[in-house]
Amino acid sequence: MALIVHKYGGTSMGSTERIRNVAKRVAKWARAGHQMVVVPSAMSGETNRLLALAKDLAPPRPDTAYNRELDMLAATGEQASSALLAIALQAEGLEAVSYAGWQVPIKTNSAYTKARIESIDDQKVRADLAAGRVVIVTGFQGVDDAGNITTLGRGGSDTSAVAVAAAMKADECLIYTDVDGVYTTDPRIVPEARRLHTVSFEEMLEMASMGSKVLQIRSVEFAGKYKVPMRVLSSFTPWDIDLGEEARSGTLITFEEDEQMEQAVVSGIAFNRDEAKVSVLGVPDKPGIAYQILGAVADANIEVDVIIQNVSKDGKTDFSFTVHRNDYARTIDLLKDKVVPALGAQEVAGDAKICKVSIVGIGMRSHVGIASKMFRALSEEGINIQMISTSEIKTSVVIDEKYMELAVRALHRAFDLDQA
Ligand code: ASP
Ligand code: MG
Repeated sequence: MALIVHKYGGTSMGSTERIRNVAKRVAKWARAGHQMVVVPSAMSGETNRLLALAKDLAPPRPDTAYNRELDMLAATGEQASSALLAIALQAEGLEAVSYAGWQVPIKTNSAYTKARIESIDDQKVRADLAAGRVVIVTGFQGVDDAGNITTLGRGGSDTSAVAVAAAMKADECLIYTDVDGVYTTDPRIVPEARRLHTVSFEEMLEMASMGSKVLQIRSVEFAGKYKVPMRVLSSFTPWDIDLGEEARSGTLITFEEDEQMEQAVVSGIAFNRDEAKVSVLGVPDKPGIAYQILGAVADANIEVDVIIQNVSKDGKTDFSFTVHRNDYARTIDLLKDKVVPALGAQEVAGDAKICKVSIVGIGMRSHVGIASKMFRALSEEGINIQMISTSEIKTSVVIDEKYMELAVRALHRAFDLDQA
């Protein structure tokens, strides 16, 4: 007998028909003798629907009073789906009970719309499990010290599930979703992309941060911190497939990297189109320029990703970095208004039509020549690299957005990712 946490995404909970299927699947696990905690998302489209209603009444404002009500509102989506799942489980003949975040309670800070979990009291849930009940805990939400309902940010049910699994020291947290696992890259771009049987949590973190939207990134951070065994698998297999087969399906996120002797050097190709490039040109090259430029950007709460500074020529240099596209206009304005005059730089230039493509793999730690293989593959396609950044397990390049698909395909091939 194991303690298992299942998480079902919005699509899996998308209709009463699908909720019934979820209930049948959970019942199969419970009847096999496992203690089951289930964390559902809201029914698909529900969170968007609710937030659109608010927007209809008043345009989004960044103030606490407004955001508090958004959380109060959005949290109802998960409350509804959780109750519906409990009802469906009862109809399957099981004892089931659902709890909203505040009832558990799942304590968070008060950062409405992006709250962080601080603690989870597992007493109530444990008592129910001991009494033979399936326990359903709402995803996405919690409660702050003052008793206000909070939410964890879009896609936050993944994080709820992993946090509950961590707090309860569950044997495994299974994330049921509308894809059947984590792929070497997006199969819509490379049809030969393969599902990975295992992926290390560090690789998953890099891939998630690069826009592989399978999991909310904070859930992966949580899994890493608390070593929660986590698996991503499809909720669209027939509910009555063999439990053992189901338990081995999908992609397992692992922690023991050296366990996998035949680990490929590069596990996946990640990409995103969310960034924009900004350059400050003709900056007098003297100590402190990086600080003056990026300090001003950080003070405006804008996150910076890839950074390069060119070698200087005639005492002047160019300084470039990328920011999220949503922050692009604001960054350009800030540089023009404040930084360029203060530094005595020539001008600001920018390009929002870029993309970042990365190769990711823990095997890169112990192999040389991986980055150069990447650059060769891109040069063979005639793709110009504008910026490069590296970490221990990732090499990223910034290129023109129009070459993104070409680059991803070329790299997928170059690193033999289409071969099993
Ligand atoms: N229902 C929330 C959302 O749509 C949380 C989740 O689905 O994970 O973002
Ligand atoms: Mg999701």
